Amino acid sequence: MKILQPPNWPRPKGYSNGVSASGRTIFTAGVVGWDENESFPSYRLHEQFAQALMNTLEILAQDGAGPQHIVRMTCYVIDRGEYWQCAFLIPKGAAEAYQARGIDAIRDEVRKAAPAELDLAELDDISDLHLLTVKLDRLTCWWRPGLLAIGDAAHAMSPIGGIGINLAVQDAVAAANILAGPLAKGEDVDGLLNKVQDRRAFPTRAIQRAQKIAQDNVIGRLLRPGAPITGAPLLVRLLDRYPLLRRIPGRFIGLGVRRERVRSPAAPRP
Ligand SMILES: Cc1cc2nc3c(=O)[nH]c(=O)nc-3n(C[C@H](O)[C@H](O)[C@H](O)COP(=O)(O)OP(=O)(O)OC[C@H]3O[C@@H](n4cnc5c(N)ncnc54)[C@H](O)[C@@H]3O)c2cc1C
Repeated sequence: MKILQPPNWPRPKGYSNGVSASGRTIFTAGVVGWDENESFPSYRLHEQFAQALMNTLEILAQDGAGPQHIVRMTCYVIDRGEYWQCAFLIPKGAAEAYQARGIDAIRDEVRKAAPAELDLAELDDISDLHLLTVKLDRLTCWWRPGLLAIGDAAHAMSPIGGIGINLAVQDAVAAANILAGPLAKGEDVDGLLNKVQDRRAFPTRAIQRAQKIAQDNVIGRLLRPGAPITGAPLLVRLLDRYPLLRRIPGRFIGLGVRRERVRSPAAPRP
């Protein structure tokens, strides 16, 4: 393989101006440091890198090639330390008392839950902690002339159930179904905005109600100071005992209460 590079041009980074090749060429892509079960055997960079190299050899071997045939390898490395985040659930209003315990006590608590090899030395300043107050609320009116709120802008969702994004996407589909056609024809849609709220208000109320029940009966109980919890709530015990019942929350969370399908017309060609 020969790189074609006019001598006076600057050398491009990450690609070549031209390549001439003869014979058979193998390309691989997306080789990462996981094993054949797609599980990362190590958190360490050098071990993951070694694994990625072994994976590359395994791929080459599928077509009778070996390391001696490799002519180009491009590696992308992401510093995971840049985006490690760890969340603690605490009762509302307890943030100040929690921070008052000091960063050493908090680091010890993180250490108990973190992988043993995770270096927590940089968690050394109380300002590394940020309070995120979770809300569950909704607007009484989602629209004004020229404005429509959907997703969290219309109804802030709690993380419980991991369902807020579903709801936001379903709102978007409903809004497109109701508004895209008239908008494409250049019509004034102010008179239609209330229809989006009419369609999406019920699923929002139902999902938020379920989140509130889970908050009060499960999460809230865990955070309440006092006697330790010795038994799971009845609902959790029922789900544990009858596997078929688990389909109900799975369906509720996965598909939502009022399913939305895209019916809006495709965008007109310019
Ligand atoms: C801690 C936590 C964990 C959660 N976990 C999950 C989960 O696992 N699964 C799940 O489904 N839901 C989860 N949720 C809920 C979910 O995050 C929200 O319901 C969902 O993100 C709402 O989507 P959205 O597009 O309406 O709003 P957002 O995701 O908030 O998007 C709004 C965007 O607008 C941008 N923006 C704001 N102001 C401006 C401006 N003036 N100009 C330009 N851009 C602007 C913001 O930066 C943001 O990118 C979680 C919520 C929390 C608080």
